[in-house]
Amino acid sequence: MSFTVAVDGPAGAGKSTIAKAVAKRLGMIYVDTGSMYRAMALFMVRKGVDLQDTESIAENCEDVDITIRYEDGVQVVYLNGENVNALLRTEAVGNAASAVSAVGAVRKKLVWLQQKLASESDCIMDGRDIGTCVLPNADRKIYLTASSDVRAKRRYEELTAKGETCDLAKIKADIEERDYRDMHREISPLKKAEDAILLDSSDLTIEEVIDAMIRICSDKDGAPKA
Ligand code: C5P
Repeated sequence: MSFTVAVDGPAGAGKSTIAKAVAKRLGMIYVDTGSMYRAMALFMVRKGVDLQDTESIAENCEDVDITIRYEDGVQVVYLNGENVNALLRTEAVGNAASAVSAVGAVRKKLVWLQQKLASESDCIMDGRDIGTCVLPNADRKIYLTASSDVRAKRRYEELTAKGETCDLAKIKADIEERDYRDMHREISPLKKAEDAILLDSSDLTIEEVIDAMIRICSDKDGAPKA
């Protein structure tokens, strides 16, 4: 049986950076479920599907094939055979993903794929509903969060480092809107699983959060050792 770690939390809490580093140190694969919703959103945006029209999203989702491969340890997302990794990390695709992810047919398709990946290898999987829905029996569950001010500032610094012009207040407003939508949707809303450990990264460095997560993953028999 594979060893699984579920990491959930709001946008910009550092889940992917931390989970990726922890997976590398513990020799597990890192499954980024947000990128699957992002790929689905990219398909809908390219096709001009109205993101308010849940029926149309559900219908169009039948034509989408999302495949995950690991190339040199890095997760690569194929959308109908095309490697779309480079197109997924924009704010626009993130916001579209939040709309698309509220549709039941989309979640059904992607949750199935996520559960299959987790059954095949030891993995650390991040998202919004991993501990509550995708892997309710995960060996470890962590809810990683930070204040919206801190998360907006981190996202702002990440984007400006890439040379993108952006506005801190707008980023914060987008993050708060996305949190609201993710936490209040009908199906699999973002919430801390009752048995998840809460980790607030607002006042911690990346290294401190990685260390805390490795301690959580290694604190019982049978857990991988760094
Ligand atoms: O984590 P990331 O920002 O890449 O996720 C993009 C969007 O995909 C989230 O805002 C959320 O709406 C959706 N998502 C989800 N369930 C997951 C992962 C992501 O609903 N397990």
